[in-house]
Amino acid sequence: MGLAIIGQGLAGCCLAWQLEWLNADFTVYDEPRPVAASRIAAGMINPVTGKNYTLGWRFSESLAEAVGFYRRVEGILGASFWHPMPVIRLVSEKEWKKVAPKLSDPELSPWLEGVEVFSEGPWKAAITLRGGGRVAVRDFCEATREHMRSNGRFSPPSDLSRRVHCEGAAGLITGQLGPHRSAQGEILTVRANWPQDRITVGGGGWLVPVGNSLFKAGSTYVWDRLDGEISPAGLSRVREIISELAGPDFEVVAQEAGVRPIVRRSQPVIGNMPDGRIVFNGLGSKGSLYAPSAAANLAGWLVNDAALDPGLDAKFLHSS
Ligand SMILES: Cc1cc2nc3c(=O)[nH]c(=O)nc-3n(C[C@H](O)[C@H](O)[C@H](O)COP(=O)(O)OP(=O)(O)OC[C@H]3O[C@@H](n4cnc5c(N)ncnc54)[C@H](O)[C@@H]3O)c2cc1C
Repeated sequence: MGLAIIGQGLAGCCLAWQLEWLNADFTVYDEPRPVAASRIAAGMINPVTGKNYTLGWRFSESLAEAVGFYRRVEGILGASFWHPMPVIRLVSEKEWKKVAPKLSDPELSPWLEGVEVFSEGPWKAAITLRGGGRVAVRDFCEATREHMRSNGRFSPPSDLSRRVHCEGAAGLITGQLGPHRSAQGEILTVRANWPQDRITVGGGGWLVPVGNSLFKAGSTYVWDRLDGEISPAGLSRVREIISELAGPDFEVVAQEAGVRPIVRRSQPVIGNMPDGRIVFNGLGSKGSLYAPSAAANLAGWLVNDAALDPGLDAKFLHSS
């Protein structure tokens, strides 16, 4: 029985490549949804995140797999999707008390390139991290869809196929995986004369260069309005973030919204739900990092009956 991938965001696109490399019999299908995240995501990968300044869950192995995956697709399509660059984390005076002791943590030291402490100005310190970068998520998904379409794989699922639901927040909102914590976010694209060779994060926001003097900046987190619509509040919050990170000299060229599909932090969920449906969802706010390895595991399970990683297996989703 052939497989039918429903949804061609980051999850469905990564799965499609992994299935293609296993010579599987499959089709892909996508219908636009206003909440789709992959069409707007900045695609940032940042080794050390959060207020507590901790290394991301399974960061090292996920990064190695993600970079190998994007490079392989780049080789096939003759395009460029993975753009490695340093991440500059700006730290406030208040945060510095928490962050400074962590700088000697042996788990974090491989990712630490340098620290600059300031005696004046709005920030106390700037920490330079290696291992970060940007995945051009939208370009990757569009190029993947085009590749699958030109290979004759794009078609609505047949009644006989085994469906794999890769529907992102649109699926979660219908209750597909039970309770969820999906969060809407707004992003601005701005034009400015700032350096294009680094990502800047700090104060709960980020600024990611995307080429041609353009930057994506964000983002808001809203849990009680999941409609994919932009808002004046989103515009003013992200403007504020940008001013704090880089100053007031920029021009807004676009404002977009999408919904991060979250079921347990940003840890993906793959495999069978108790009702028998097969899912790949829950990429949260770190899809660029986790989608390739989760897709490889799911494809191996679908095609070769390989074991699912218990940390990702949908079977255990609501058991802890
Ligand atoms: C504001 C914001 C900023 C973000 N920034 C980053 C970042 O910097 N770094 C990072 O790694 N991640 C980031 N993310 C998260 C990242 O975008 C997501 O983890 C990832 O895109 C989710 O991919 P997905 O394929 O699961 O879902 P989606 O991208 O939502 O894709 C699902 C696809 O399925 C389609 N679909 C849904 N239902 C159906 C159906 N019934 N039939 C057919 N098609 C259907 C949808 O139209 C869509 O194309 C951000 C997200 C947001 C919202």
